[in-house]
Amino acid sequence: MSRIQPIRGMNDILPEESHVWQYVEDAIRGVLENHGYREIRVPVVESTDLFARSIGAATDIVSKEMYTFEDRNGASLSLRPEATAGCVRAALTHGLTYNQTQRLWYAGPMFRHERPQKGRYRQFYQIGAEAYGFEGPDIDAELIAMSARMWARLGIRHARLQLNSLGTTEARAAYRDVLVEYFNDHRGKLDAEALKRLELNPLRLLDSKDPELAPVIAVAPGLHDYLDAESRDHFARLRELLDDVGIGYEVNPRLVRGLDYYSRTVFEWVTDRLGAQDAICSGGRYDALVEQLGGRPTPAIGWALGVERLIALLAEEGVDVTPRAPEAYLVRVGEKAERAGFRLSAQLRDALPDIDLVLHCGGGSFKSQLKKADRSGARFALILGDDEVANESATLKPLRTDEPQRPIPWSALADELKTLRRHNP
Ligand code: ATP
Ligand code: MG
Repeated sequence: MSRIQPIRGMNDILPEESHVWQYVEDAIRGVLENHGYREIRVPVVESTDLFARSIGAATDIVSKEMYTFEDRNGASLSLRPEATAGCVRAALTHGLTYNQTQRLWYAGPMFRHERPQKGRYRQFYQIGAEAYGFEGPDIDAELIAMSARMWARLGIRHARLQLNSLGTTEARAAYRDVLVEYFNDHRGKLDAEALKRLELNPLRLLDSKDPELAPVIAVAPGLHDYLDAESRDHFARLRELLDDVGIGYEVNPRLVRGLDYYSRTVFEWVTDRLGAQDAICSGGRYDALVEQLGGRPTPAIGWALGVERLIALLAEEGVDVTPRAPEAYLVRVGEKAERAGFRLSAQLRDALPDIDLVLHCGGGSFKSQLKKADRSGARFALILGDDEVANESATLKPLRTDEPQRPIPWSALADELKTLRRHNP
């Protein structure tokens, strides 16, 4: 029979990789919780409408990357391509922004039907942070500083911060008109794709990768000349705060982001170690979105990081994550030893609830079981055979040093393991 194939662009994360994922997730979750952000879990599926109205119907994500389908009732649903829209929807559903502020984080898979390549998948994982109800630039600075702290905690050194301000929705609209006029004067240089962008989402022309267009973009009118006074002030204060804590950045006036809901601050952490897929974390303010989705005007800001890219960057930077190994592997040979070994493992787990103990299952000779014990990475083998059972002991065999093996009575084993742990935590 033919085997069922995995879906292109959707990856299995295997046991030998998952410890790196856990390392990354634990470190990031730690930083988020340290800053008072609390986890929210939103569904993987939402109304297609939610994404069309928030991310924008004309964006690449909504117009060609979403997994959209009809459910059995004929409702149009989509797999979430990102989670900001879902978080805002949940905040509205449950009144989370009613007379209160929120600092939230989420983690989970996102889905985009893009062309799969290194660092670009159709199911990928994001961890994101969102803050609702904070108007001032201090929350922008906090979110950015928090991400910088994550890189430090993970051991990442090659991440650079790009920063820009898009101004208010009105300022952006005014700039959009200027931009449309400018690019219209250079229509000859625009290919079909660019012409479509010009019509639907002209700001996106600024981050076009077409080399033909590069010189045109280089001298295009800059958004900064059209910023409203308040956004200009907000941006200046954000920069001061970042300067105060020594976070370096580059102001990139071409940074516009691919989603419609952003206003004012936008930023992206990029790296020169991952080739074309160089963005590891991006975000910005979306002050108009809550209202746009039917809530009261509520300032909001957030970012999302790509876990696969972060993990690839860790590898590029040579950050070595040691997999967690068991403390002990219990070898048991013979019928009596098998039974006693199971009971002993339960006793040890009762006495040391967090012990990492692998109980050998499936029989086999001492030799083959010890081989498995060694391969498991365990510090010790606990060996039970007929002799040990007869005198109610286990042989403790260090597997990572050449210390001699020695018998330990069952009754003393938990304490012995505790002592050994203290000497080598
Ligand atoms: P890119 O410019 O690389 O397409 P993006 O602007 O579409 O990124 P966002 O929507 O802001 O990305 O998502 C935040 C982060 O999620 C990105 O910085 C990136 O690290 C990661 N990411 C986005 N799309 C993918 C994907 N298809 N596969 C893996 N990671 C992704
Ligand atoms: Mg993209």
